[in-house]
Amino acid sequence: MTQIIRLIVLGKQGAGKGTQCIRLSRHYVIEHIATGDMLRAAVKLGTKVGLEAAEYMEKGELIPDDIVIRLVQERTSTGIAHERGFVLDGFPRNVHQAEMLDDLLTPESLDAVVDLRVPTNLVLKRIASRRVCADCGTTYSTAKPPRVDWICDNCGGEVVQRDDDTEAAIQRRLDLYEKETKPLIAFYREHGKLIEISGVGQEEIVSRRLIMAIDKILRQKTTRISADGDNK
Ligand code: ADP
Ligand code: ZN
Repeated sequence: MTQIIRLIVLGKQGAGKGTQCIRLSRHYVIEHIATGDMLRAAVKLGTKVGLEAAEYMEKGELIPDDIVIRLVQERTSTGIAHERGFVLDGFPRNVHQAEMLDDLLTPESLDAVVDLRVPTNLVLKRIASRRVCADCGTTYSTAKPPRVDWICDNCGGEVVQRDDDTEAAIQRRLDLYEKETKPLIAFYREHGKLIEISGVGQEEIVSRRLIMAIDKILRQKTTRISADGDNK
């Protein structure tokens, strides 16, 4: 039987969550569920959710919890996410969302919550040079652009600066991170799920750190499951 893997990655704006979550989703063959990417796609398509979300996003405010939880519920309950698992990127973003997620999944079914740690002075530098594919959300930077003229290597989409990567919206998002999202670190630590990983350094090296820590947790889980099986 394949083991289902369910992960959350927390970290402030520019910590490298998106990049690392894509790597994790490829490594473990699980779904990458990024609420920011889903919302940006909805804005671009002009769906009902998108029309409502756009105003909040441009200012760096959070979208109402009930809208976001609905998106997450839909995505986690089908396809690869349902069959093999997922890594959540940008969700939950406050304690209320974490509680709603517990209702959706039961707390035991989460394998690990990663806190990807990067100092604020470094994330500010990273965000200033950040560019993203408007279609698939792949992240680039002015120092590491796509191979051809701001065309996404992954999907051929246009690579641009995000509408909310303005100074005011970044500051608002970082403030909200401190106020709303940081308390989740204590929340998940109390649940015994938290692993803290430094997000400083090359992409590949950070990725290896993450995979080593997650593999360790998954091995413990396998041992636990087989021990439980022996008892029966
Ligand atoms: P960043 O981490 O740089 O803020 P994201 O792509 O994760 O970027 O999110 C972009 C925006 O999408 C947020 O500023 C917010 O408006 C909205 N958003 C994303 N995820 C959530 C969420 N879980 N709850 C509420 N709003 C969200
Ligand atoms: Zn792309």
